[in-house]
Amino acid sequence: MPVRDEAAAIAGDIAELRHAIHREPEIGLDLPKTQAKVLDALAGLPLEISTGQGLSSVTAVLRGGQPGPVVLLRGDMDALPVTEETGLPWASAIPGAMHACGHDLHTAMLAGAARLLCARQADIGGSVIFMFQPGEEGYAGARHMINEGVLDAAGPRPVAAYGLHVTANRLPCGMFSTRPGPMLAAADQITATVRGRGGHASQPHLAADPIPAICEMVLALQTMVTRNFDPFDPVVVTVGSLHAGATDNVISDHATFLATARSYSATSQAKLTKLVPRLITDIATAHGLTADVDYATEYPVTVNDEAEAAFAGETITTVFGAGRGETARFPIAGAEDFSFVLQEVPGAFVFLGAVPAGCDPLTAPTNHSAAAVFDDAALAEGTALYAELALRRLGLGA
Ligand SMILES: [Zn+2]
Ligand SMILES: [Zn+2]
Repeated sequence: MPVRDEAAAIAGDIAELRHAIHREPEIGLDLPKTQAKVLDALAGLPLEISTGQGLSSVTAVLRGGQPGPVVLLRGDMDALPVTEETGLPWASAIPGAMHACGHDLHTAMLAGAARLLCARQADIGGSVIFMFQPGEEGYAGARHMINEGVLDAAGPRPVAAYGLHVTANRLPCGMFSTRPGPMLAAADQITATVRGRGGHASQPHLAADPIPAICEMVLALQTMVTRNFDPFDPVVVTVGSLHAGATDNVISDHATFLATARSYSATSQAKLTKLVPRLITDIATAHGLTADVDYATEYPVTVNDEAEAAFAGETITTVFGAGRGETARFPIAGAEDFSFVLQEVPGAFVFLGAVPAGCDPLTAPTNHSAAAVFDDAALAEGTALYAELALRRLGLGA
């Protein structure tokens, strides 16, 4: 039976696992209940299973019956601090936690793919690493798992790594999307504190007022973007939080702001880490103030390998038919910690539409929304793609 049909045949089990995970969402690096559900789903399969030390990850290795290279499949498992408002029968039972990014689907699909691939163990030439990862949403769980050895779990390093991500809007249900090169942005956080000297608002010449300087910084950051960066390699800097003073007649002695910087190349990210702190401290100095700037690089650019993105596209067309996959024209402005894996191993990150039937992909609530709904109909297709990517990359056209 083709893998796709087998995935459809176990879709009920995959949905059941997904709903169980969805009902009990966990946030961050410590997801003991989710980990237990994954271990349960993998129980009895011919896998070498290990769990994380500093995080509740699950690494499972399938060794095929024949020698060959290693391929890695990754699914993230964590939820978001959002209170669910979908009213679904399997909605989160925990206020303040929701699988609003669809990672419950990734976990269930990866467990389903493990089942399908284990059934083909004898024919597989090589090994498959299943990477069940906590802490994608801002905790760099992938980096922790790399530090704990996930890339070496099967012995030799993987020759390819694939990640899937469902989307509650944008793509019609069942539509796959990937692209060669940058797929998602790098995301950095800037924290700046400008210090001066407080005083009476009627006598600013006797004080050192941080507010005019911080206003200049906000605008200068925008000019910096347009004067220093190639418009065809876009950079976005947004000041999202700004605080100074308490009332109208007092000059504050300090002011602070928080900004995010998004970029799509390592060159731009490196340039930002130099230019942003310099701009802020130099403007402060020009006004007789001082500034502390913390430029924290969070996630790097998620860069798909050209050959692996092409291979993923061919696999989608072969398995699901023409018209089921698209080459995205542009990267997505979000960020992903699968980027850390793709810095080490060539691979591809693929989006999969999971918009519920009857909803317009252009207006459906987005990932991270309390109203985001991901359709179970995507589960079998995502499971089949995971399994087919591994099989075909290991030379088995199933
Ligand atoms: Zn997310
Ligand atoms: Zn996500």
